[in-house]
Amino acid sequence: MADFKLSEDIKSSDPEMYDLIREEKQRQKRGLEMIASENFASKSVLQALGSCLSNKYSEGQPGQRYYGGNEVIDKIERLCQKRALEAFGLDPQLWGVNVQPLSGSPANFAVYTGVVEPHGRIMGLYLPDGGHLSHGFMTQQKKVSATSVFFESFPYKIDPDTGLIDYDQLHKNALLFLPRMIVAGISCYSRHLDYKRFREIADDVGAYLLADMAHVSGLVAVGCAPNPFEYCDIVSTTTHKTLRGPRSGIIFFRKGVRKTLKNGEKVMYDLEKKINDAVFPGLQGGPHNHQIAAVAVALKQVMDPAFKTYQQQVLSNAKTLCSALQSKGYYIVSGGTDNHLVLLDLRPNKLDGARAEKVLEEIGIAVNKNTCPGDKSALKPSGLRIGTPALTSRNMKEDDLKKVVDFIDMGIKLTQEIHSSCGPMLKDFKAKLAEDPDVVAKVKAVKTQVEEFALQFPLPGFEEW
Ligand SMILES: *Cc1c(COP(=O)(O)O)cnc(C)c1O
Repeated sequence: MADFKLSEDIKSSDPEMYDLIREEKQRQKRGLEMIASENFASKSVLQALGSCLSNKYSEGQPGQRYYGGNEVIDKIERLCQKRALEAFGLDPQLWGVNVQPLSGSPANFAVYTGVVEPHGRIMGLYLPDGGHLSHGFMTQQKKVSATSVFFESFPYKIDPDTGLIDYDQLHKNALLFLPRMIVAGISCYSRHLDYKRFREIADDVGAYLLADMAHVSGLVAVGCAPNPFEYCDIVSTTTHKTLRGPRSGIIFFRKGVRKTLKNGEKVMYDLEKKINDAVFPGLQGGPHNHQIAAVAVALKQVMDPAFKTYQQQVLSNAKTLCSALQSKGYYIVSGGTDNHLVLLDLRPNKLDGARAEKVLEEIGIAVNKNTCPGDKSALKPSGLRIGTPALTSRNMKEDDLKKVVDFIDMGIKLTQEIHSSCGPMLKDFKAKLAEDPDVVAKVKAVKTQVEEFALQFPLPGFEEW
């Protein structure tokens, strides 16, 4: 009989993959992770993800499954739902929750599928101004996001002078476009959102208001960012960003009275069935029960007082990151930050995001290039988005962030040096970075310093491998 090695350790059964995972672990340990949407999940979250729950099919809702054997899975999903409502201080009479979305984009697509009819209208923040693909991005050539393929999307924008959302223009355009849904959510915007203002605009045009708090949900949970639940009909989130859980998605929806008409008649919300049906059977099959359990584990941590201390440190670290960059003469979009990220505009340095991102990657700092308000081309982003959640999970404090800014500064100066001494094309730049012996030596010297620094801060998770 063939030996399928069902009980064998990955180390011996699949050394090739084992080594690759270890290699990635080393990369995470030796580098500085500053991609604003990333974080390090805890050991217990990773344990739940690696559990036997991955084996089970459980299509349907707790108590109403299409398969047998779900008595334990029901308890797990109900516990996750209960913790999700508790973590955000929600009354189960007024709010319901679906914890089955596989991630943030599928969660949003389920909301549109359930609540906005096909080709119904959606307004979200313009992607190059800091919005998310799933809010409906398209170009002249292509409807890039399925949100623009199956729905009609019309973006709102940032005022390039202030770096802030242009609510007045959104209001004017909403009155003309008459969207069915307005999405208040950001992937790259360092200021708090004015949910009250969004609500007024949505009410003025009879639209639903969806808050996509993917980036800020950890901050929201502990009161470090404005609370979207006060004003929104629906709130979606990822669970792997500031919330520090596994990769997954959650949708919260209102229940009860939506509004009272002038004649006293009450209009009720009917979101629960629409959203639940859109998730399954509309868009998904079996829920990922290992993820749901891991989300529940993360939500328990969210309710621990230590999580508030963590988020306060995330904010304080972002402020230090911001002011240290500014004191070195760098230009930060909107002049500061209220949350976990900054957007560094490199136009005053006569550089672009792609080149700086590349050099920073070479020296062991992970950030991403990002368009800045007013950028002429979405294809040549002039900024860098830099966030503090992951480094804060490695227990870095303000003084550490100052050191990190020194490294970022070295990387950008190196970018300038290479840029000014090579041809104009990105490929010239990359060639010089990879091949010029003097440049290679300089990169290596900084990278060594970055690694020595990073290795002082243990990575949450497994020590075993
Ligand atoms: C990250 C993000 C998402 C989706 O995340 P995925 O899990 O990658 O699908 C959705 N909305 C916003 C605002 C985000 O930042």
